[in-house]
Amino acid sequence: MSVERIRRFLSEAGPGTPCLVVDTDTVAERVRELVREFPHARLRYAVKANPEPAVLRAVLGAGGGCDVASPAEIEACLAAGAEPAALSYGNTIKKPADIAFAWARGVRDFTTDAPGDLAALAEHAPGASVSVRILVDGPASATPFGQKFGCEPDQAADLLAEADRLGLDPAGIAFHVGSQQPDPAAWEAGVAAAAKIFADCAARGVRLRRLNIGGGFGITYRDAVPSLAGYARAIRSAVAAYFPDEPEVLFEPGRAVVAEAGLIRTEVVLVATRFGRRWVYLDVGRYNGLAETENEAIPYRLEPVDRGGERGPVVLAGPTCDGDDVLYQRTPYELPLSLRAGDRIDILDAGAYTASYSSVAFNGIPPLRTYCLEGGTLADGA
Ligand SMILES: *Cc1c(COP(=O)(O)O)cnc(C)c1O
Repeated sequence: MSVERIRRFLSEAGPGTPCLVVDTDTVAERVRELVREFPHARLRYAVKANPEPAVLRAVLGAGGGCDVASPAEIEACLAAGAEPAALSYGNTIKKPADIAFAWARGVRDFTTDAPGDLAALAEHAPGASVSVRILVDGPASATPFGQKFGCEPDQAADLLAEADRLGLDPAGIAFHVGSQQPDPAAWEAGVAAAAKIFADCAARGVRLRRLNIGGGFGITYRDAVPSLAGYARAIRSAVAAYFPDEPEVLFEPGRAVVAEAGLIRTEVVLVATRFGRRWVYLDVGRYNGLAETENEAIPYRLEPVDRGGERGPVVLAGPTCDGDDVLYQRTPYELPLSLRAGDRIDILDAGAYTASYSSVAFNGIPPLRTYCLEGGTLADGA
């Protein structure tokens, strides 16, 4: 139904392409569904997925909070009406000035994963609650984090004991199994590792209480993933199996909140045959919204607006002069054989990690324009 509302807006307003339209009623619906599936957990929407003010208002209005990664994201959430207590600072890579800014604005929950960051927290956010992020392998993720974030599980108890010694509040353990994670069992490894650290800390006189299971819930783009209920069931049973006392649970969905609420309308710029393959060039590409096509990680669903009929294979590419601005050359896509320059194509489930990843002016192409709908019409300030 969000697609119908968005298409009605597109046909009435006729904005130029490319553009992203986000239906914020769907955002609110997803937040309510996630809250229902994880009834005792606090939801902290990962703002980087889509930081539009109307999206943040919808998340907050439906009872969610926000996970922020920078001073600008904190400002955006507060401007959208968030209480500082509804914000958590999940980025473990932060300057002392960023920490001081967050603390001055009332943010009290932070995630850390290294002694240097912990020392900066003790100095600039004295007494703050800290969770230690551990590295959990999630090989099935479409966009894995590799080893960039999270300490080794063996180092976590030392960091939490150190947090305690520095006068911080050692709250618990955080992990993230990688975005677009199709395997609900990926969370079990994190839950098990966290339970062991809870026990190690208790033996050292540090009582932990919080378990942050991150984001990563997948969306059905072209390949089916489990339902939110399926993810929730697997995670709830892992927590029950490894934790004798139920911890305080936090989760940080980004994609699952906003992806299905958004649609990108794009236009075909050129169709050409090269070495026997039909290339279709769109006015949206890697640099103005489709960053997640890097390595063809996210296979979006495409729907031609103007033409049907017999389809044939295509290579899809973006509009810029960069050789890497190719969307799909290995992933099989088929589009109508009658497709011509000027025809429109809709990219579905494109609300997450599109506009926020768009460059400001590569080749003079402006960032992806976003329109947010509330109750089917243009939201205030959108
Ligand atoms: C990006 C991010 C998320 C959101 O991940 P999704 O896969 O979009 O759900 C959650 N937590 C942290 C710390 C992140 O960096």
